[in-house]
Amino acid sequence: TAGLTTDAPRGRDELFGGLLPAGMDRRACRSRYEAWRYYKHFPYAASAHLQSKLRAYEARHRRCAPGTPLYAKAVEQLRSGRSAEGLECTYVVWLPFDGLGNRMLSMVSGFLYALLTGRVFLAALPAAGSGDLFCEPFPGTTWRLPVEDFPVPDLVPRGQSIERSYTRLLDAKAVGPAANATALGVPPYVYLSLGWQLKDPLFFCGEHQQVLRDVNWLLLYSDLYFAPSLYGVAEFQDELRRLFPSKESVSHLLSRYLLHPTNPVWRLATTYYRSYLAPAKRRIGVQIRMFGFGSIPVDDMYSQILACSRQEHVLPETDDDATGGNEAAAAASSEDGSNSTAILVASLYADYYERLRRRYYEHPAKGGERVAVFQPSHEERQATDNMAHNQRALAEIYLLSFCEELLTSGRSTFGYVSSSLAGVRPTILLTADGHKVPEPPCRRAVSMEPCNLTPPLRVHCQGKPVDKEDLARHLRVCEDSKVSVKLF
Ligand code: GDP
Repeated sequence: TAGLTTDAPRGRDELFGGLLPAGMDRRACRSRYEAWRYYKHFPYAASAHLQSKLRAYEARHRRCAPGTPLYAKAVEQLRSGRSAEGLECTYVVWLPFDGLGNRMLSMVSGFLYALLTGRVFLAALPAAGSGDLFCEPFPGTTWRLPVEDFPVPDLVPRGQSIERSYTRLLDAKAVGPAANATALGVPPYVYLSLGWQLKDPLFFCGEHQQVLRDVNWLLLYSDLYFAPSLYGVAEFQDELRRLFPSKESVSHLLSRYLLHPTNPVWRLATTYYRSYLAPAKRRIGVQIRMFGFGSIPVDDMYSQILACSRQEHVLPETDDDATGGNEAAAAASSEDGSNSTAILVASLYADYYERLRRRYYEHPAKGGERVAVFQPSHEERQATDNMAHNQRALAEIYLLSFCEELLTSGRSTFGYVSSSLAGVRPTILLTADGHKVPEPPCRRAVSMEPCNLTPPLRVHCQGKPVDKEDLARHLRVCEDSKVSVKLF
């Protein structure tokens, strides 16, 4: 079919040129081996250093994963009430927080942190079962934390003010440079409260990273893509440079490495793709998210989409003097799909799909292009605890990532992940702050990197200064949020 890649030019093989490990069970997780056929862009290959780092990581994960003697030892140490020096396996435990896009971004960031610090990345996922969203990412082992047997009560916090978070413990002098000297020693675990309220901004200082190195278990509670802020830590800078010669590639490569939808999700995405999107010559993904704080009437939002599309030339223009969209266009274009566009709408609501569909139904697209509009679901509201809802949401993130071009909503992590996976610099609709229709309606993103919506501001680190010039060259204010930063 037109929209599927069947040949394998260099770097576009099923393992993405060495990004993915070989030898995993194909049937257990079909997306891992099939994804390359659906993606349209392969802008960055994994550097040799990233590849070797990932292979070394996988070996470490196998040695330290739940079920191994080293894991048992680390859990025993956790029970003892203090961290041990020189423990072979230390961990960062990812905890679920917020919507699906948020979770995917904090996973990618947490995994990068584990790579940089020699830790093992475990995820506190819901109990294993048919409703899983993601496959095991590492060969011959598990990334799943055995939550039931884990000796930290009430593991998942209920808010971002966490009693045993780093800054709180620091204030209580229970951790920090001086704590080593106390009889209590270093606590066995510390929470990192790195959500949108960013309670632990000191985490992004080199001198505090030194303190955290001695803590065996770090419990990560975040809904952010905080990878850009790791670039602000002098001790990580060189390694990051070697891992990602192009800073724009961080989340693109790591999300394609780490996140693989399970077979049921993959079936949803690929069945839909083959039925509706594959026959077209090109696909444009339109993701519309309306936040309570920036809501505007549907008609205003629709006008913003059209204004943006005209400004950045995203959607096919229509010939508004003519009527009879599909018939006229069909007569002028070939029947084999060679001049056709599929617009995929992802949104909780049906309004934008209906308006766009009517637009191309009532008016022909210029140049005889045939345009079809599709929307897989309109769930009306977010339902993060509902597994079937999440599976549909994840399928839609992947459907967006199979598009050649993307028009996404500002400040939406759902859109950010789609762009990273797709390897596409999206056009980003700006948020209607104060419920005012934004002007300009949108901006073309400088990179496919997600925005770090809450970076550490006004934190004065005391440690080794970071190479500010290098940072300034590759970190900038986000298109869609003035107080946020992204890599480019
Ligand atoms: P964000 O809130 O836009 O940053 O994205 P998140 O993914 O973190 O949270 C939004 C949640 O709302 C998603 O995880 C879905 O559960 C739901 N949702 C939002 N937009 C869509 C959509 O276009 N399609 C579907 N199926 N669900 C959506």
